[in-house]
Amino acid sequence: MKIGIIGAGMMGMVMAHRLHQLGHEIEIIEGGPQIGGLSTWFNFGDFVWDKYYHVILKSDKYLLGLIDELNLTDQLYWSATKTGFLWQGKHVSMSNLWEFISFPPLTPWQKVRLMSGILYNYTITDPKRIDGLKASTWLKGVFGNEVYQKIWDPLLQSKFGSLKDEIPATLIWSTLRRYSSTRTPDGREWMGHLKGGGLKVLFDALMPSISKVHLNQKVQGIEHHSNQSVKVKTDQNEFTYDRLVSTIPTALLKKIAPQLKDLYPDTPNPRFLGVIRLALVLKKSLSPFYVTNLIDKGAPFTGIIEVSQLGESQEFSGHDFVMIPKYDVPESEWFSLSDEEIFKRFSNELKKLWPDLEESIIHWVVHREKIVQPLWIDSPRPEGQVKRTEDQLIWNVNNELASHSTLNNDSIVEASTKAMAAWK
Ligand SMILES: Cc1cc2nc3c(=O)[nH]c(=O)nc-3n(C[C@H](O)[C@H](O)[C@H](O)COP(=O)(O)OP(=O)(O)OC[C@H]3O[C@@H](n4cnc5c(N)ncnc54)[C@H](O)[C@@H]3O)c2cc1C
Repeated sequence: MKIGIIGAGMMGMVMAHRLHQLGHEIEIIEGGPQIGGLSTWFNFGDFVWDKYYHVILKSDKYLLGLIDELNLTDQLYWSATKTGFLWQGKHVSMSNLWEFISFPPLTPWQKVRLMSGILYNYTITDPKRIDGLKASTWLKGVFGNEVYQKIWDPLLQSKFGSLKDEIPATLIWSTLRRYSSTRTPDGREWMGHLKGGGLKVLFDALMPSISKVHLNQKVQGIEHHSNQSVKVKTDQNEFTYDRLVSTIPTALLKKIAPQLKDLYPDTPNPRFLGVIRLALVLKKSLSPFYVTNLIDKGAPFTGIIEVSQLGESQEFSGHDFVMIPKYDVPESEWFSLSDEEIFKRFSNELKKLWPDLEESIIHWVVHREKIVQPLWIDSPRPEGQVKRTEDQLIWNVNNELASHSTLNNDSIVEASTKAMAAWK
């Protein structure tokens, strides 16, 4: 069969690989200028790296399985990374058990509450137990009000801004479980990447499954062509396929093909968080931490990600490489600011900590995406059922099929496995 796939992000590329394994001919239609979607790569001057920061975790069993299947396991590089907090204008490390015990922002009793809350979270294996609860209410109950105010409230504020009090508890539950699962018993946190260009290495290995990629073509309409084929209209062309697989968020698919009701749950769309990200290529390192969380309120960004902590110096041409993200709703005024204004606002804040920052900057670049993390605020997350038209010609396969509500590549590969199990 000749199969068309909408979207050349991780989901589209993995589905292409799976369907090609069944012997089908695959074409992908992608709205952007290159494959990869949110996991795509960028040339940061002297080196190529993921455009947004990505790590692979030891618990990413589906993704690691795919990496193995593509014979890329020997390109995996693991580093024991450190986590820091910005507290009262100072960097505080919380990367092992001892640092946890001496963590200055919390009293001994509050540390007991924090640890027991994290352990309690492990006992929740079925997120249905906390379905319908808001994260703020749930976190106060699990960790106590004092720990909530000192740690969780500022973290929720920096990550979710105006939606802080509305986000579902399940999102925090799955984030906590995902990241705790990458720690070894000595408290060290292991983060992996593919050497030689990050996720680009994976995309390069998936490319041979695809006969043709139509780039810069936004799909605008889908209709049944006959009872055996599907017509896809883009802003430039029309394509006909024996079958079609859409991998874009259901909310976007609904706009393109509102008549294909079998493909959607009968519930409201999720809201979305977008991301604005400043990348800095620097002469010298800012900190020993991969992630610095902010528990001082008021910074214009969500955290500091020192990506070069993940690999060897030569992967970054000997430079330090830092990403500064800000998550916000798509309608936020931040999305209409110029790159220069975003650089100015972020770097002014960073200069409070590193006054000589400007002398260290070799390059900077701002990127932004409006549709990133779905937030199931007004309706439950539609998990499980693979949606397709009754005649099996059009399929809706995206990360909403995965069992976790955080957006990550392991859940994408998991969703592809579910879709393939249903494929007829
Ligand atoms: C800042 C950031 C940090 C992240 N960190 C991690 C991490 O550490 N670990 C991890 O595992 N994951 C991480 N992720 C998540 C990871 O990037 C996503 O899970 C993954 O890239 C999603 O892939 P996708 O194919 O589902 O969606 P997308 O990447 O969004 O792909 C969808 C594709 O469809 C295209 N498209 C949309 N509409 C149309 C249309 N009408 N016509 C044609 N094409 C269309 C888009 O251009 C896009 O290429 C991170 C994401 C971000 C933004």
